[in-house]
Amino acid sequence: MHPLAKLDHAHVWHPFTQMRDWLEREPILITSGKGAVLHDVQGREYLDGNSSIWTNLHGHQHPKINAAINGQLKKIAHSSALGLANEPASVLAERLVQAAAITNYDLRFTKPQPSSPADRRSEFVNRNLDKVFFSDDGSTALEVALKLAYEFTRRTRGPKSKPRFLSLAGAYHGDTIGAVSLGQIDLFHGAYSRLLFKTDRVMAPYCYRCPFNRAKPEREDARKYRKCNWECVTKVDQALTKQKKRGEPYAAFVFEPLMQGAAGMIPQPSGWLRQTTDLARAHGALLIADEVMTGFGRTGVTCHVDDTALARVRQHPEAARAFATTRVGVPVDFLCLAKGLTGGYLPMAATLTSQRVFDAFLGDYEEFKTFFHGHSYTGNQLGSAAALASLDILQSRASVVARAKLQRALHDELKSLWALPNVGDIRQVGLIAGIELVRDWRTREPFELRERAGIRVCEAMAKRGVLTRPIGSVVALMPPYCTTPAQVRKMVQALAESVEECLGRKPRPQK
Ligand SMILES: *Cc1c(COP(=O)(O)O)cnc(C)c1O
Repeated sequence: MHPLAKLDHAHVWHPFTQMRDWLEREPILITSGKGAVLHDVQGREYLDGNSSIWTNLHGHQHPKINAAINGQLKKIAHSSALGLANEPASVLAERLVQAAAITNYDLRFTKPQPSSPADRRSEFVNRNLDKVFFSDDGSTALEVALKLAYEFTRRTRGPKSKPRFLSLAGAYHGDTIGAVSLGQIDLFHGAYSRLLFKTDRVMAPYCYRCPFNRAKPEREDARKYRKCNWECVTKVDQALTKQKKRGEPYAAFVFEPLMQGAAGMIPQPSGWLRQTTDLARAHGALLIADEVMTGFGRTGVTCHVDDTALARVRQHPEAARAFATTRVGVPVDFLCLAKGLTGGYLPMAATLTSQRVFDAFLGDYEEFKTFFHGHSYTGNQLGSAAALASLDILQSRASVVARAKLQRALHDELKSLWALPNVGDIRQVGLIAGIELVRDWRTREPFELRERAGIRVCEAMAKRGVLTRPIGSVVALMPPYCTTPAQVRKMVQALAESVEECLGRKPRPQK
């Protein structure tokens, strides 16, 4: 075993890992990376099939981000945001506020067209999010939103108010106690239930396994052929109404927009987000969007990329939106960002909120209306410099066009997986894909957790030079934006071969 691997085995405790299994084999030890490729200490090469757990955007060792960090290093790495302002964090805050604004252009399908041509395009009709609170990771971004929403509610509804939160079945919002409380994954709740505060859970859409979906399995994304009456929207409506009848409406509705990540890459059918957020707002709930995974272009440039969409993207790259909520024009009260914020370079997070929330914390010093929360590395200068460079790349024409092409390439490659009887559902949202493995697609019969189907498939993929992690029986593919068509093909082929090898059913020709 490599001496570094020995050190790891001796001392490092890995996250979400059964360490007994871990200690049974030599770990892959990464030493460098370039673009979509990672190198290990043995000189082997891998494709970064999940963008280093959903963080990386533009590839490893991107010259522009490297240069930005080096440039910042020549000035200073960090100074405290407690009592001091700094250059890159101030500039970054403005850039994030701009990126989070919803324009008339975004609302063209949902609002009557503005009459004057002047405000047809980039007029901000909803610059709702004006304030940025920096922290360190996704969990803290959610903790900040949670505490702010809690206090804001008590201050606006009065001291008798008991703010309560509504979140989605299967939701994942991070691992700190507040973030776990907001989440709804039973495995984690079971372990820490006595430490958590009570939140309410409502049905989340999951078309492939929805009890209300009457459609027989087909060889297509289950959202496309579902037969239902939008029961998942009705459930949200009922939950909101029930809570209002109890005396006090929900303080906030928390959700991962367009796709729930750790739940198993579960996408929402088109229209769900708008309908439920409209309902929640009408019931007086604040909206907390957890875009830790979906942010920074992950959910795609447009909903589907064909020739027409690609031509439009080429003509108007400025119309591409950074966030899931801005892409579909859903205004929120809190926007939680982390993973991709620095392009996957440094731990940093941001919680964006409105002037209205901000104002509730203003007062004379001795009123103690201050938001009592902060972290040592809040507004870190190196992280901010990396984030600014990453945003520049993200908003460049080259990146927008490349992402549209990559989205289409991923879609085209994934189609080949329908030939495998163990592939039950393939769900893609932009540059995120979840492939759900089943015993037989015709019955949707799942694998049992102890069969470790997803883990075995991902281990076989690693042998073929593609790294990713499963969520139960769902294999996630999330390529960095610089991934080439040939590399996408390799990722999907490695997955296909591994499914065949591990789950043992020969593919049959597609009908
Ligand atoms: C990863 C993730 C988090 C937690 O982020 P950390 O940086 O791991 O704390 C929260 N919400 C979503 C949707 C995530 O994907």
